[in-house]
Amino acid sequence: MAATCWVKLVSKMKPSIALTFDDGPNGVATRSIVDILKSKNVPAAFFCIGSRIEKDPKTVRYVNDHGFSVANHSWRHSFYLPVQSLSAMRDELHRTSELLQTITGRPPSLFRPPHGFCTPRLVSAAQQERLEIIGWSVDPQDYYTDNAQLIVERIVKQAHDGGIILLHDGLHDGFRAKQLADRKGTIEALPLVIDALREKGYDFVVLDQLPRMSHWTSHLFPTEPKTK
Ligand SMILES: [Zn+2]
Repeated sequence: MAATCWVKLVSKMKPSIALTFDDGPNGVATRSIVDILKSKNVPAAFFCIGSRIEKDPKTVRYVNDHGFSVANHSWRHSFYLPVQSLSAMRDELHRTSELLQTITGRPPSLFRPPHGFCTPRLVSAAQQERLEIIGWSVDPQDYYTDNAQLIVERIVKQAHDGGIILLHDGLHDGFRAKQLADRKGTIEALPLVIDALREKGYDFVVLDQLPRMSHWTSHLFPTEPKTK
C-alpha cells in the first residue's frame, strides 16, 4: 500500500509538458511527425487549418487514426480574424469544426487563434462554437528556422512544468513559409527534443492532463492589465 502511494506521489511530481503542431495538414511532413511521435509513444495535438483540411483530408485521417488530437486553427488563418464580425468569426470556426467532424467523427474541442492574436470577441465566438482557446508557453520559432539543433536548444531552455510547446507541421504564411514548407528542421529536431526532455524527467501528456494555467491564454492578451 505504502509503495503504491509512493509510486503515485513520484509520478505526480514528475514535470509535465505537451506538444502541439500548427498549420497542417501538410502531407508527408505531417505523416513523418506522426510516425516519430508514435515510435516514441508521445501524445500531441494538431491544430489544423480548415482550407488545408479540405485539400488534404487523408492526412487529417492519418493523424486521427493514429490516436492524436485534432483541433481547430480557423478556416483561413487570417491576420484579420480577431477584428472581424462575430458572425464571420463563428463561420470560420464552425466550417472548420464541421469538416473535422466529418473526418474524425466528433467535433474538436480546442481552438488556437491564428498567430496567437486574440480579442474578447474572438473569445466569445470560440465559446459560442464550444471551443476552448489554447495558447502556448514554449516557442522555439520553428517558423523562422530549419536549424534542428537551434530548435532543440530553444525548447530545452524554455521548457517548464505544465508547458505547452508550439511547433509547426505546416507553415501557412510568414516570410519563410515557402522555404521551410518541408519542415525538415522540425522533423529532425523532434526525436532529439523528446529524448532531451525525457532525460530531464519530463512526462509528455495530452493537453487535457495539464493543469489549467494562466499562460494558456494570458499571452494572447498582452495589453490586458494584470489582476491579482
Ligand atoms: Zn498557425
